[in-house]
Amino acid sequence: MKQQPQNRRYFIGSLAAGAAGAIGTQSNRPTTTAGLEPDLVVFNAKVYTVDSRNPKTEAFAVKGDRFIAVGSTSDMKAIAGKSTQMYDAKQMAIVPGFIDSHNHAPGSTLLYEVLVGNPYEVEFVTISSVIEKLRTRAKETPPGIWVEGYFFDDTKVKDKRELDASDLDEVSMDHPVVVRHRGGHTSYYNHKALETAGITKNTPNPPGGTYDRNRAGDLTGRVTDLARNAIDRIGNRRTFTADQREQRDRDGLAFISKQFVRYGLTSVHHEGGNLRALQDVRARGELLHRVSFEVSGNALESMIASGIASGFGDEWIRFGATSEHTVDGSFSERTMGLSKPYPGIQPPYQGNITTTQDDLNAWVERVHRAGIQINCHANGDVAIDMMLTAVERAQKLFPRADARPKITHCTLINDDLIRRMKVLNAVPALFTSYAYYNTDKFVFYGEELMRRSMAFRSLLDAGIQASAGSDFSPGPFAPLMGIQGMVTRTGWDGKTWGANQRVSVDEALQINTLNGAYASFEENIKGSITPRKLADFVVLSDDLHTVDKEKIKDIKIVRTVVGGNTVYQG
Ligand SMILES: [Zn+2]
Repeated sequence: MKQQPQNRRYFIGSLAAGAAGAIGTQSNRPTTTAGLEPDLVVFNAKVYTVDSRNPKTEAFAVKGDRFIAVGSTSDMKAIAGKSTQMYDAKQMAIVPGFIDSHNHAPGSTLLYEVLVGNPYEVEFVTISSVIEKLRTRAKETPPGIWVEGYFFDDTKVKDKRELDASDLDEVSMDHPVVVRHRGGHTSYYNHKALETAGITKNTPNPPGGTYDRNRAGDLTGRVTDLARNAIDRIGNRRTFTADQREQRDRDGLAFISKQFVRYGLTSVHHEGGNLRALQDVRARGELLHRVSFEVSGNALESMIASGIASGFGDEWIRFGATSEHTVDGSFSERTMGLSKPYPGIQPPYQGNITTTQDDLNAWVERVHRAGIQINCHANGDVAIDMMLTAVERAQKLFPRADARPKITHCTLINDDLIRRMKVLNAVPALFTSYAYYNTDKFVFYGEELMRRSMAFRSLLDAGIQASAGSDFSPGPFAPLMGIQGMVTRTGWDGKTWGANQRVSVDEALQINTLNGAYASFEENIKGSITPRKLADFVVLSDDLHTVDKEKIKDIKIVRTVVGGNTVYQG
């Protein structure tokens, strides 16, 4: 690491053409020429830059949408001009804008659907509150039309028992009713839904899913992974005109963008969504965060057909990797594919694998050849192995340097998987908030598996650039909650799991900023407070390096700035 003398000005050699190109190729002398001065100088701060050349400083200057200089308060004041806005940070901490590398960004769900759990924080609900909320929706819904609840979390229920089909019968016998787990891999149905789909206690489980049964052999209403398809196909859903759908998508995206910046996120990798609506929201000036857009299905086919590779777009909306191509089930809902049976479950259960190796090989090869960054959802060690096998095969057939295959979740690793990831330069996006939010689920895996799960320490030690992927809806997306969990491995319930995987505050910060930029090939324009990079940063009420580690999540976001513009003020 090259050491930059402390308190020395840290200037750019040459500013890329653009906003402030006139500063040009100058020496390290500050300039105060009229018209060339910074638009903004932030001083008297504790700036954690996540730039190894100059990790901590006091001040920086912004022109247009870029940082142009980083240094001491006196140096930055020296380059300020008459028109420069001066911001006294009063010793508050400032960090680069946070980056979430995996987020479903379900804005219209947040805005329009029945939320039976708290999307953002740990909160326990009662089964009767779930029933009540859905009943209200059922009353205004014509019979036969689905009534759906979102953001359910089976371990955040005060009743301390499983939600079941009979509970949901109380919502309505005339509507198919479903409660979707926030993890996205399990759902709970009422009997009307099960019966309409023709599912009985004698129906065999399909490949890649289960119809859960109780000890007596009766259906409980809980259905996992691919088994849900047969039920979700039946009945009708509320319909909207094309215009209404666009409006809902636009308003949903504008809504969630506000939530992201409220928590300090300035860039988010969007798992699919409505690209047209995203562009409209941007045109309306309501897109507050930057988007790495990840596609599947028809949109992915169109990219391949038209020769659009990852990286196409601009600093606000850019095609990133593919959407997560699903290889196995869920970590939080205990359906991920394990090489050994789940502890304590009878009959022995090893989770759900939702594709074959042959199908996966074919998909990976086709996308890889098209110059598009591969992204697979792989939680369990079996799934990660399958994905790496497919990528190794594709690289052998069609070698491409610096492909950075993205592994969404990459939850349960072992030494062999790490070695192979390193060879492929894979970029894993691990769960972030789970280590705080989901400790009530880790007992299902036990300490032995948790020592190899969400293995930030092992991955960083191997030189792998692990990034942060909240997976919202499944996990809350608050970066500070994520950082607290990465640093402490202790949850809301005070229980600690896999403490061997703890990382330092600085490492957690890098995981949530620069490594996220690396995962989308954008490390040259964002992820650290570095001259020439986009001026995306967050002002924090407390210094996460000195505050009690159990209180990192309670630090307030004072201000979120994207491209030099304040998009949130607390
Ligand atoms: Zn996901």
